[in-house]
Amino acid sequence: MASVLYSMILLCISLVACTAFEYIHHDTEAAEKVLDEVHRKCPDITRLYVIGESVEGRPLTVIEFSTTPGKHELLKPEFKYVANMHGNEIVGRELVLKLADYLCDQYKAKDPDTRLLINTTRIHLLYSMNPDGYERAYTHQNDDKSWLLGRANANGVDLNRNFPDLDSLYYYFERRGVPRYSHLLDFFSDDGPHEPEVRSVARWILSTPFALSANMHEGDLVANYPFDASRIDGENQYARSPDDVTFRALALSYSTKHAHMAKDDHKPCDNVEDKFSRQGGITNGARWYSVKGGMQDFNYLATNCFEITLELSCTKFPNASLLEQAWNDNKEALLNFMWQSHIGIKGLITDKLTGEPIPDAVIWLTNVTDPKRPILITHPVTSAAGGDYWRLALDGKYNVSVDAYGYEPTSRLVTVHNVHGNEAQRVDFQLQPSIADEAENEENETVNEAQETYAADALERELENAQ
Ligand code: ZN
Repeated sequence: MASVLYSMILLCISLVACTAFEYIHHDTEAAEKVLDEVHRKCPDITRLYVIGESVEGRPLTVIEFSTTPGKHELLKPEFKYVANMHGNEIVGRELVLKLADYLCDQYKAKDPDTRLLINTTRIHLLYSMNPDGYERAYTHQNDDKSWLLGRANANGVDLNRNFPDLDSLYYYFERRGVPRYSHLLDFFSDDGPHEPEVRSVARWILSTPFALSANMHEGDLVANYPFDASRIDGENQYARSPDDVTFRALALSYSTKHAHMAKDDHKPCDNVEDKFSRQGGITNGARWYSVKGGMQDFNYLATNCFEITLELSCTKFPNASLLEQAWNDNKEALLNFMWQSHIGIKGLITDKLTGEPIPDAVIWLTNVTDPKRPILITHPVTSAAGGDYWRLALDGKYNVSVDAYGYEPTSRLVTVHNVHGNEAQRVDFQLQPSIADEAENEENETVNEAQETYAADALERELENAQ
């Protein structure tokens, strides 16, 4: 008996020794080991899963934190952080690994905030979207020429330019007054080819009902929000999305909790002027520099997920001795941003007669805080497979209306008052089946016609470019 006890104590000591997180540069093997150890420490609230492979066959491994690992729970919002999309930008990668270790330790230590967050949110962390690029950058980190080395994947493609360009389709519809604002992939003729890393991540984005996300980069210190592509080609102009005020608040929820991002207490990364800290540490993507085919706008225009882009340090590949400070600077911001999955409203949409859930119902918000100036937010979200939906929104009064094929449309007035640590207010709808849906058919016809013209125009442009 005594010897069993003795060996258990020894095992515990060795586990503690091997699970202490180290602030070092974790290559793929070391990073996978960190995740394995976190899972071993917290098997009941974590799961590791692989969403695909890089060009050179490295795994794209996600660690999930949830009270029901592997399962979407009805009404529970899904959140993700994606780091190291540019292989030579490594701060986000190390922060995500440390965050995984921290969440597990805090949960085990019964920290009330961490417990509440994990009990109410399903969190997915992808520490590297571009492991091949990372390995190149890692090998050449001491070369002076390494500012861009490892940015692209092994095929030399910038992954943050390789997603379907839905901004162009959005603007095309907008110019023609076509009433189609979201889930645009349904109307998109593919502009591939897409890299394996992009295909894997896009599939993941499309198959999980994410409500909120951030995509981590380095090279500057700012939280960047949609749209990323300018409305006018070749110009860096502010590109307002229908959720501009919400996105600004989401970006501020990160920047203002970061130790420096929103403060005028640091040297600007470009050594010229720090316009970002004068703007609260945030910027509209297109106003900074216009990007087509980025992941951020793909999330917003193809799915219900709101994504922002975080630039976490001037230095892309800092010395390992600076990583602990990076964690301390970002810790509160990382946690606060995850909590934003709970702003606005959420609910369940069901059939009034049968009680069955209704997937793909369309939920619209009109901001009626100022009753004289109602503002329709032209970005509907849709209900997931279980009839549940999440609609991020700031404090205010809203008219929430719901449309579903085969049902009478319905609406309700709601006052949103977000409180940190609380779940989103629940607003359920029971829909009455209807017989015909003439208006919707007409609207679909208009959209279909416009989509055909867009495809023909795109083909024409392609032929012109080929000449
Ligand atoms: Zn980047």
